[in-house]
Amino acid sequence: MSNEQVIGEAVAVCGECDWVMRVPPRAAGEAAQCPRCGHHVAPPAQPDHQRPLAWALATLVMLGLVFAFDFLSFSTRGVAHSMSFFDAARAMSGHDYPSLGVLLFMTTAGLPAAYLLALVCLLVQAARRRSGAMSLALARTLRPLEPWMMADVFIVGVLVSLIKIVTLADVAIGTSFVAFCIYALLLLRTFTLIDWVSLWQNLAPMPVTDTHLETARTGASQDAVACRGCGMAYQPHRHGRCPRCNRRPVSNALDRIQLTWALLVTAVILYIPANIYPIMSTTSLGSTDPQTIIGGVLHLAHTGSWPIAAVIFVASVVVPISKIAALAWLCLAATHGWHDDSRSQMRLYRITEKIGRWSMIDVFVVAVLVALVRAGALMAIEPGPAALCFAAVVIITMVAAHTFDTRRLWGATFERDSP
Ligand SMILES: [Zn+2]
Ligand SMILES: [Zn+2]
Repeated sequence: MSNEQVIGEAVAVCGECDWVMRVPPRAAGEAAQCPRCGHHVAPPAQPDHQRPLAWALATLVMLGLVFAFDFLSFSTRGVAHSMSFFDAARAMSGHDYPSLGVLLFMTTAGLPAAYLLALVCLLVQAARRRSGAMSLALARTLRPLEPWMMADVFIVGVLVSLIKIVTLADVAIGTSFVAFCIYALLLLRTFTLIDWVSLWQNLAPMPVTDTHLETARTGASQDAVACRGCGMAYQPHRHGRCPRCNRRPVSNALDRIQLTWALLVTAVILYIPANIYPIMSTTSLGSTDPQTIIGGVLHLAHTGSWPIAAVIFVASVVVPISKIAALAWLCLAATHGWHDDSRSQMRLYRITEKIGRWSMIDVFVVAVLVALVRAGALMAIEPGPAALCFAAVVIITMVAAHTFDTRRLWGATFERDSP
């Protein structure tokens, strides 16, 4: 029997290891996995688009409620004060760190709101099987945004900040914080319910092309790639752009490993001021006490808050350093062709990619404390320059992980395009 297949619904190129495979039709709840690297080439199938639509709308409503009530309240020695969710972002802007304020607002509420609204539009269009060039461009953009939504990380940041100041003042959780926790859970659930394969199929059915691809071989050996936008397998040299969504193929003109290296070096350089300068300073009764990341961890350990000291130490020191080290090792493995254990390397990459965003905890802790602890001369907390440097380290390492081409771990070589 010939293993030659027509490009269409049934043949896919794995975006992570470049393996060409048949994808049989999925029953409801069934996902399709790459036999070589375990990547989910198709998420669990959904019977229709009603469920993700309902969850996305519920998430939007809950996000609206977050803005309607008090988030946290604080009182010490007769000075009481409560903060809304929006105050956390506004406080950072008020202390000469508008970029951190924007970052906090966008990663926890702005980006998710835009994502959910766009998703609702796409799901409605998919149900009607009508779409235009605009909606295809929107669908291409949405999925890569998912790791940048950090509502879950923010919750951990809030809990850590509450434990940090519970000995200094009375703090209470507001209705808005409860709404925020429900919103974060709904958001995570919505992500898992989106069946991108059938969503794309309804927005723009896969066009029939006359190209033949052999399964159980690499895509590179047949000049085929998986479209980074819609997942369709196509041949860039024959088709130019993706025949379905019109996305341009990723250019090989730029050596992506060099780009990853450059980002890693930048992250290492920024990690130095992130540790030398204070991340925040506490002013209490006239005396100011600046605190570095490590200083904060040691202070927590001395006062007996071991679990919180451990959380901050892991998020701010262990995760960024091991992430940079792991990506550097993967770059070396890809460059020097160390492909003895591609599966383990792939697993290391996936862990690195998943945990990176959790480093943002300490930046969120600073933002919450700055907004919450405002008792004039009695007690106030200000952000330090290290907060900015550290946030930059987290973002740059996340981008570095994104630029890394995992197909290289499987020995794929790509000829350079000469545009
Ligand atoms: Zn694969
Ligand atoms: Zn495409």
